[in-house]
Order: sequence, then C-alpha cells, then structure tokens
Amino acid sequence: MASAAVMDRLVARSLAGNAPLNVHFDVTYRCNERCVHCYLDHADHGEMTTAEIKRVLAELADAGTLFLTFSGGEIFLRPDFFELLACARKLRFDVTLKTNALLITEERAAELRRLGVRRIQISLYSADAAIHDAITKVPGSFARTLEALCFCHTQGLLVKISCPLMKQNIAVWREVQALADSLGVTFIMDPTISPMMDGDRSTLRMRLAPSELLPVMQAPVFDSPAPAPAKDDAADMAAAFDNIPCSAGHNSLYISPYGDVYPCVQLPLPTGNLREKSFAEIWYGSAQMRRVRNVKESDLAICNDCAIRQHCQRCPGLAFMEDGDLGGPSQRACELAEAAARIAGVRDPVSGLRALGRLHATSNSHPAQLVHIAALSTPQEREAL
Ligand code: SF4
Ligand code: SF4
Repeated sequence: MASAAVMDRLVARSLAGNAPLNVHFDVTYRCNERCVHCYLDHADHGEMTTAEIKRVLAELADAGTLFLTFSGGEIFLRPDFFELLACARKLRFDVTLKTNALLITEERAAELRRLGVRRIQISLYSADAAIHDAITKVPGSFARTLEALCFCHTQGLLVKISCPLMKQNIAVWREVQALADSLGVTFIMDPTISPMMDGDRSTLRMRLAPSELLPVMQAPVFDSPAPAPAKDDAADMAAAFDNIPCSAGHNSLYISPYGDVYPCVQLPLPTGNLREKSFAEIWYGSAQMRRVRNVKESDLAICNDCAIRQHCQRCPGLAFMEDGDLGGPSQRACELAEAAARIAGVRDPVSGLRALGRLHATSNSHPAQLVHIAALSTPQEREAL
C-alpha cells in the first residue's frame, strides 16, 4: 500500500498534469435490488460490450489511470464481470468494487482475492433486516449481503460498509456503524439523494433536511482530523488544489455503461462518447472538459464574498445540477454550510445566497451533498488507499 506521502505526491502531480488518475466506471445500470431512493434507469439501453470495455480499459491504462472503481447498477449482473476484472488487473489497475454483494458467494469472494481486488464497498442501510429489506425491496437481502460481506472480509479484502442516509434510516445509522465496528470493517455514510435519471423527483422526498442531518454532522466520526502530511507534501497538495474546486475533470472522471464520459458521477456534463472517440481525444480535447478545468476558485463571484466559506463543502456538480452554473453557489451547500457554521459556534451564519435573499427554505429541488467527495479528493480518502 502506498504511503500517504507518496499518495499525496501522486495526486498533486496528476492534478498538475491533468492525468486521469482516478476513474469511476459504471459497467451496468441493471440491478437486482429496487432501492427506494435509486435514481437509475435499470433498463439496458445498449451497454458497452466486453470487447468495447476492454478497449476502453487499455486506453485508460495508456493514459495513466491507476485507480479504477467498478460500480453500477449491480456489477455482478454482467456475465462477463470476472473477465473484465481480470483484464483490469492485467493492466495493473488498483481496483475497487461497489456492490450490494447479493451475488457474491464464498467461491466468488475467493476469486476476487485471487484476482487481486483489494477494496470492496458494500451498501448496507441498517443493522435491522426489516429496515434494510424495506429499502432494497428484496426480502432476505440483509442476510445475504451480510453473509457475502463476511466472505469478502475473511478473504482479506478491505471491506467498507456504505450507508446511504435518508428518512428511512437516519434514526439507525449508529447501529450500522456499531455493526461495522464489530465486524472490523470501515464505514462511510452518504446523504446524497439524487433525482431520477428521467427527471422524476419523487426520490427527493427521502432526502434529509439540514436539521435532520445535524446529529450526524456533530458525530465524532466526522471530527477525526486526518494525519498531517509532511511539510513538503502538504505544500505540494496545497499547490495542486490551489484555485481548483475539486478533482472532477482534473485527475478524475466518470464513465457510464454506454460509454459516455463525464467529469464526475455527480457532474452530469457530457464530454464525449467512447464509441465515437478515443479516451485521449475526449480527455484532452473536449471543450466541455476544458470548461470544467477553467473554473477557478478565485472566479466564484458569490462564494468569494461569502462570510462562511470555510464551513462550506460546495460541489461544482451540485451547483451545475441546480442552476447549470459550474461557478455558482449551491442552495444545498449554503444550507449545509450554515448548519456547519452553527455547530462551529457562529451565531446567525449568513451564506452567500442568503445575503442575496436567494436562499430558499429547505426544498427537495436538488440532491443532497455533504460528505460525499470523490475518492482522492480528501486526505482521509487518500489515507484509506
Ligand atoms: S466536489 Fe466531488 S462530487 Fe462534486 S463534482 Fe467535485 S469531485 Fe464530484
Ligand atoms: S455557503 Fe454558499 S455562497 Fe458560501 S461558499 Fe458555500 S456555496 Fe458559496
């Protein structure tokens, strides 16, 4: 495992040179669960074939990608998934899997280990089977997921429980954390709830208001500071992130099952299709990718005058989804920044949008963003590698 210092240097260099270090690849949107909050269209509208994906993987390897996350939908629904995995490992990618684990048997867990998969992130919504199964709409899914999680852990894979937070399970997240602790695996929460891909906004009814997230924001799990990097590395990292909002389009990107390339899974700005162009043509030549890279922190007019900017985790993808403005503030970020500022002791915090009289009361008009930051964007994530 690379040390945090080596990782910091690697991230800094990839940001400086726009190397596509980190790729999130959804290989299917099909799924064997029907989670109440899911935003995906599960129909197959023409997923890339085995040969097409292998070609893309080879192009990514040529371009310098190192960290590859296979996600979906449910990745194990692809009959060729182990073939894709073997190809990815042959190309020396450091592979992470995101799965509900329903299709992972003891033998398959051993095969994952044999292929050299190190990390696997498994969705678990509750430590109570009834709550979990009500969210996935698959009776018995809690027991099957938990069993598969133990198979992976026994094989020595680094297992992380991912607990998406919503109205249905906000009261029980501590039990999920306790379960993760008792199993000896790591744990992450994510309150991001997105509108469905077809524009249906019904999923947003499950999104948590800032007031409901306050107990989570105050929990010690979010208070543990990352170890300080060495002085030179800290300088490298600060310089690399100086004046850019995040890693999206700079050293990380998202690929859909249909070959569409986006700067981030949370930034739905199409930049090209891998059936029409090579990866290098899109990554280095797309005008949209350049548009993302040209957004500088110092250009964020409203945010630059914001009194509580240090409490804000503005996501450009969210700002883009809300207003189509990569450089604008975000309603949700403003709401959450005010909540975070209150926790930090600021009396009557005023976000940029509130100062302009444009902060609406908590609405469900856009997805939530609080602790989800793409891998490699934070010292914690880099440390976890
Ligand atoms: S802040 Fe994170 S989630 Fe938002 S666009 Fe950037 S990398 Fe993606
Ligand atoms: S709180 Fe709102 S205005 Fe302030 S920095 Fe964050 S997004 Fe920008």
